[in-house]
Amino acid sequence: MSKIETKCIHEGWKPTQGEPRQLPIYQSTTFKYDSSDAMGALFDLEASGYFYTRLQNPTNDAVAAKITAMEGGFAGMLTSSGQAANFYAVFNICECGDSFLASTAIYGGTYNLFGVTMKKMGIECIFFDQNASDEEIEALIKPNTKCIFGETITNPTVTIFDIERFAKLAHKHGMPLIVDNTFATPVNCRPIEWGCDIVTHSTTKYMDGHAVCVGGAIVDSGNFDWEANAERFPGLTTPDESYHGLTYTKKFGKAAYITKATSQLMRDFGSIQSPQNAFYLNLGLESLPLRMERHCSNALAVAKYLESNDKVAWVHFAGLENDPNHALAEKYCPKGTCGVIAFGIKGGRQASIDFMDSLKFITIVTHVADAKTCLLHPASHTHRQLTDEQLIEAGVAPDLIRLSVGLENIDDILADLKQAFGE
Ligand SMILES: *Cc1c(COP(=O)(O)O)cnc(C)c1O
Repeated sequence: MSKIETKCIHEGWKPTQGEPRQLPIYQSTTFKYDSSDAMGALFDLEASGYFYTRLQNPTNDAVAAKITAMEGGFAGMLTSSGQAANFYAVFNICECGDSFLASTAIYGGTYNLFGVTMKKMGIECIFFDQNASDEEIEALIKPNTKCIFGETITNPTVTIFDIERFAKLAHKHGMPLIVDNTFATPVNCRPIEWGCDIVTHSTTKYMDGHAVCVGGAIVDSGNFDWEANAERFPGLTTPDESYHGLTYTKKFGKAAYITKATSQLMRDFGSIQSPQNAFYLNLGLESLPLRMERHCSNALAVAKYLESNDKVAWVHFAGLENDPNHALAEKYCPKGTCGVIAFGIKGGRQASIDFMDSLKFITIVTHVADAKTCLLHPASHTHRQLTDEQLIEAGVAPDLIRLSVGLENIDDILADLKQAFGE
């Protein structure tokens, strides 16, 4: 199975003779063992097996294995949300007193998590402008800096993160690159192929695709050499007292990072995805390549229309030939980026609000990347907590409208936009 379309359907759950064709939902908190010793070995991480769904569940594992195969990774896990995925991905290698670098152009929820909540845990997030020079970014790296974080396609500004460049920069300083690949999905970009070490997802978006379940995923490439940078990553390379002094890198090799995240962070924080939600996610994954193709072609048609509309002040969509991110999009997402467009309307903030309120089936929702075309005004919705200064730092103009182009017929989408513009 080499092609993504096939992986999306056949990876993960692989039934043997007489087993259910579709992934079963293991709706069970617990699993049965015949002896006390058999169960004890699991608690010591001496044997692998299921014992409690907070740590591992067969339905979740099958879906995590599918996403791992789609990304070309070594090991993966599901989380209850994209927020949990990004928190675990960073917290798995950062402790109190550490720092890490993150692009300013990231999802508002992640920006708060990194800049406000993790700060309270004693972890400093150093934000950088992804357009800054290597020298400027390297000047921010300290001895306690543990990773670099960015989004393949940034939410909501839809700029493209130069993955190969940031992977080289991170590796030069002995740290991994973590990329949130939510908007591109592994159908349109596989960050690991460009040197990224750890990929995260809010599966809530295109992967689910139907706006039914909040969820997240982490995929580890298995490529980062923690042992070669042992002093920087003591959590992985020195004994874990909570498992009788086991050392993750020694015991689990390439699976060290994900094993620590499941057996330590998931054990202690418990942000599991419910097996029922993992089942829905798996259904979404089966049709993901088909849906991404349509999201991209519909969005390109809408972006071209907006670009030619003289009521529109500006449009950001990397699929447009004169978009400043077009060259990066051609490199990282040759099949198309995603269905999300950012644009502003002449007349500023109020004109944008009037336009949104005039739409008919295109609705204002706090969502993005599902079958239904929808839109949102970050300054008054998702990024409401940010000051104007922070908004501008995050590249979010006050008039920015985030339009998520769905799977409806393009003629109907364009007709709704046109009537809202009074055409
Ligand atoms: C939505 C989103 C998140 C947060 O995911 P939830 O599933 O809502 O917790 C993180 N990163 C990106 C890029 C997102 O779009």
